[in-house]
Amino acid sequence: MTDTLVILPGDGIGPEIVAEAEKVLDWLKSNAGLEIEVEHDLIGGQAYDAYGHPFTDETLARCKSAKAILMGSVGGPKWDGVDYALRPEAGLLRARKELNLFANLRPALVFDALVDASSLKPEIVKGLDILIVRELTGGVYFGEPRGIEDLGNGERRGVNTQVYTTSEIKRIGAVAFDLARKRSNRVTSCEKANVMESGKLWREDITALHTTEFSDVQLEHMYADNCAMQLCRNPRQFDVIVTDNLFGDILSDEAAMLTGSLGMLPSASLGEVGKTGLYEPVHGSAPDIAGQNKANPLATILSLSMALRYSLERATLADMVEAAVQDVLNSGTRTADIMADNCREVGTDAMGDAVVKALENLA
Ligand code: NAD
Repeated sequence: MTDTLVILPGDGIGPEIVAEAEKVLDWLKSNAGLEIEVEHDLIGGQAYDAYGHPFTDETLARCKSAKAILMGSVGGPKWDGVDYALRPEAGLLRARKELNLFANLRPALVFDALVDASSLKPEIVKGLDILIVRELTGGVYFGEPRGIEDLGNGERRGVNTQVYTTSEIKRIGAVAFDLARKRSNRVTSCEKANVMESGKLWREDITALHTTEFSDVQLEHMYADNCAMQLCRNPRQFDVIVTDNLFGDILSDEAAMLTGSLGMLPSASLGEVGKTGLYEPVHGSAPDIAGQNKANPLATILSLSMALRYSLERATLADMVEAAVQDVLNSGTRTADIMADNCREVGTDAMGDAVVKALENLA
């Protein structure tokens, strides 16, 4: 049976950037032997306007039976007055929850041509290629008890609970070890085992999993605060970093900024092995530039490349797409957000065309 990819363009710049990723997809189908069924549906504000809900049961069912989802972005001022439960962003949260997407993958890849866009010195980030694997459905963002309590004496108390079980730790650990085997075979596991019991358990469970199933992978443990420091000092020491929801939120944003540009950052959210994966750029719907042919589509094209690698098992095609993006950047073709001296500024559509042209040259 042919695999299905569901495309959810979403709001703002979503439809523009996804259209460029579809050009790449069409090229791969026509010229590189990619066999895939493509279906389109709505998410976010578009879905709210059409169906009165940002992620309907019908869309969920379609996504569940697909191999992968490629999404643009959701949200925008048009829906600011809508009830929180029906906001565009609530649609995305529902998708993540219902599809049990517990592993968030954020690569931080520095392309040679963009090495000057980083806030760190070129010699520190040149050639950087790390992958942060963040646990996405547990930890302090979901733990109970939580809330703000009135203590009655003019004092209030805010509570959140950091909580992880062995099965939650081991399933995210397995994702990280498995991915490391497809990369440089090294995992750094981050927590605060020195001051938190949940961190101590995390370290023990990751160690046990490593011993029983992944002893071929090199494992290092690091306190999360040290990891934050090491990411600035010497980021190339890392291959795969695995961490919890809270530390992952912070460390993945820090790592992302090492690359310098929001328009270049793809992401993936994965569930159990073999189930639907969701692929989307890290950035939002950029209402300020929507409809102006200014958005950088490369984060979405690189998200498609992650889908090829991690859900569709077409790593060679993923390599090809990444090489095409590299060639386009080396040729000096840039959207406004990554524009530099002596480069040629192009719009969203011309950037997509340039990637397709680069694929033709590579073939
Ligand atoms: P944003 O990422 O949309 O935009 C931040 C800045 O980056 C803007 O100046 C924008 O023009 C620029 N930018 C973003 N993507 C770009 C691209 N591909 N090319 C060039 N420039 C780009 O963040 P925001 O302004 O805080 O949020 C706008 C809306 O997006 C909000 O409704 C927010 O809730 C939503 N949002 C959605 C997601 C998602 O769909 N996963 C993520 C973040 C924000």
